[in-house]
Amino acid sequence: MTISFDLDDTLIPGTKRFPSEKQTWFQKLLGLEKIRLGTVQLMKKLKAEKHQVMVYTTSFRSAGHIRWLFLLHGVWLDGIINQRRHDRTLLTEGKRSSKYPPAFKIEVHVDDSKGVELEGQRYGFRTILITEQEEDGVAKVLAALEPTNNAGFVAATP
Ligand SMILES: [Mg+2]
Repeated sequence: MTISFDLDDTLIPGTKRFPSEKQTWFQKLLGLEKIRLGTVQLMKKLKAEKHQVMVYTTSFRSAGHIRWLFLLHGVWLDGIINQRRHDRTLLTEGKRSSKYPPAFKIEVHVDDSKGVELEGQRYGFRTILITEQEEDGVAKVLAALEPTNNAGFVAATP
């Protein structure tokens, strides 16, 4: 399955605050953002289970920046969608949605935004909403991905 994650306020603290992964001096030197505690463990687990892990952000951070942000935690992202790439792709599709994961063959998108969840209901894509209060956002994502917890959910077969 292909799973994407929002960055701001989902994996990177901004207006919402949550504990973050430890940074090395090198990551600090590069001025890389802190990422949410549990992200690395979750992404590694998903990748070990042969899922594709992507980032889908409406920020203009460059793909290179996002690549290194996760690679320096040992995670190779299978795809990176930033606002520029979203605009380029969605312009041709004529969609008005702020995010539209199916355009990038993404099957589930993890986000903090209620608005994105509503868009999912409206445009027919699956979302998992996590909030800053959820201490274990990781567990929530994994639980939501369990086929048994989702009636009608069909796991992708390669
Ligand atoms: Mg967000």
